[in-house]
Amino acid sequence: MESKKEKTFKFVVVGGGIAGVTCVEQLSSQFPSEAVALVTAGPHIKAVTNYKQVSRRLEEFDVEEKPSSVLEEKYPNLTIIHSAVKSLRTRTHCVETADGRVFGYEKLCICSGARPKLLTQENPHVLGIRDTDSAQEFQKRLAKAKRIVVVGNGGIALELVYEVRRCEVIWAVKDKAIGNTFFDAGAAQFLIPSLEADKEQAAAPCKRQRFTTEEPAPDASGSALGPDWHRGIELRGAEQGSRRVSVEYQCEVEHIFTLEEFLVSSKQTPKPDTAGSWPVYVQLTNGETFGCDFVVSATGVVPNTEPFLHGNNFSLADDGGLRVDDHMMTSETDVYAAGDACSACWEHSPLWQQMRLWTQARQMGWYAGRCMAADVLSEPIDLDFCFELFSHVTKFFNYKVVLLGKFNAQGLGSDHELLVRCTKGREYVKVVLSGGRMVGAVLIGETDLEETFENLILNRMDLTAYGEELLNPDIDIEDYFD
Ligand code: FAD
Repeated sequence: MESKKEKTFKFVVVGGGIAGVTCVEQLSSQFPSEAVALVTAGPHIKAVTNYKQVSRRLEEFDVEEKPSSVLEEKYPNLTIIHSAVKSLRTRTHCVETADGRVFGYEKLCICSGARPKLLTQENPHVLGIRDTDSAQEFQKRLAKAKRIVVVGNGGIALELVYEVRRCEVIWAVKDKAIGNTFFDAGAAQFLIPSLEADKEQAAAPCKRQRFTTEEPAPDASGSALGPDWHRGIELRGAEQGSRRVSVEYQCEVEHIFTLEEFLVSSKQTPKPDTAGSWPVYVQLTNGETFGCDFVVSATGVVPNTEPFLHGNNFSLADDGGLRVDDHMMTSETDVYAAGDACSACWEHSPLWQQMRLWTQARQMGWYAGRCMAADVLSEPIDLDFCFELFSHVTKFFNYKVVLLGKFNAQGLGSDHELLVRCTKGREYVKVVLSGGRMVGAVLIGETDLEETFENLILNRMDLTAYGEELLNPDIDIEDYFD
């Protein structure tokens, strides 16, 4: 591959999602006279707009899909290469693209994202939702559907079951409560009535700006969608009425049958109403079998690492991500990784954990760019403070949701206590205390507590003396700790 190198760049970044774009912007602006390249499979890139620092650690921003020329116009030293990376030779420091070109690099950052972990490969009745294309395919098929089965309990499943109308949804979750990735059973209980409320009446205006996409990208491996991915598209099925969701708890998919397989499998005893002919049947581990028009597999993601592995010696984490250290460096020399493609394998702050989210893709991309720069300049660099405290703002079921620190008491075992305040239909506040100190919080609704709680967590203040008063709604906690 060495002899065919078309050009060698100081920095090459792979992936036009949030992580790759943030990384390449950081490098292009810090080194205006060095050659920088962004290699990406799709014609569009993801750009962060309206960035707003909500508090010391919480940030909000919109993401827009833009033609990549926007970046080239902004950074004259940046070249965009529109092709997927097919292979990587770390020994000779070069990447080969699907269109047969070879580019050299001094430093490389892999930001190739992740793809849905599908329940089964190549089953036309099982869909994953990841990019604009797959979201539109989902919308198209939903328009003719009377019943779908959604499998998974993360953010995508949560948003999906809430947004779908005029189609019955069977929601299979492996946990005892919905939304287990993000919160506990108490919060789930708070949110469940929203699923039952009539969607047409309950839909309150959404304050957060929409995520908009342009025409569907023709590439097969576009960037992951993000918050509000469903807002630009109507999610309506073929039935009358509004939302109809039934949750099947503590179960996984045992088997997926086609109609033909289902008919020959005489042992199956479907629910009476599923006995008609559906294109696909889902047997759950709780013994229930449901016929449906199609299945949505929302059971997490797998990092896109395959093109980079062959012939190299990358160390991979259990979740399949490229292991990176506290300088976002992989186990291969001069190769960094950021965003969904990587697994943060440094010793984490006790208040932080990796979750494959937009905010972390931006933070990691930016920090990886700074680490690559520091390496080139032989300058020291400390782990950025954004990795000190996990913080995430989002919306579920039209409620503002703020997650801080060990919001689900992750890794704390029994060494913690919880304080909860809940006003039905309005707010749910949960605080996680360990050794008398606040280590995490879940805030659902317009609680206005995020900044104060963030400070209390970061200050490591001993709150034992305050006890349950901490959540007393009659006390203005902000004044209290001023
Ligand atoms: P991506 O955005 O996936 O970008 C990867 C890029 O790499 C793409 O441009 C792709 O074309 C390119 N690429 C891949 N392979 C190659 C290759 N071999 N060669 C060249 N280029 C390649 N996060 C939130 O914080 N909040 C949410 O509400 C939320 N909702 C979501 C809803 C959906 C439906 C999905 C799918 C994800 C959601 N996420 C959400 C997660 C969030 O979108 C991702 O964590 C984030 O986009 C990851 O950014 P990234 O840059 O690492 O990867």
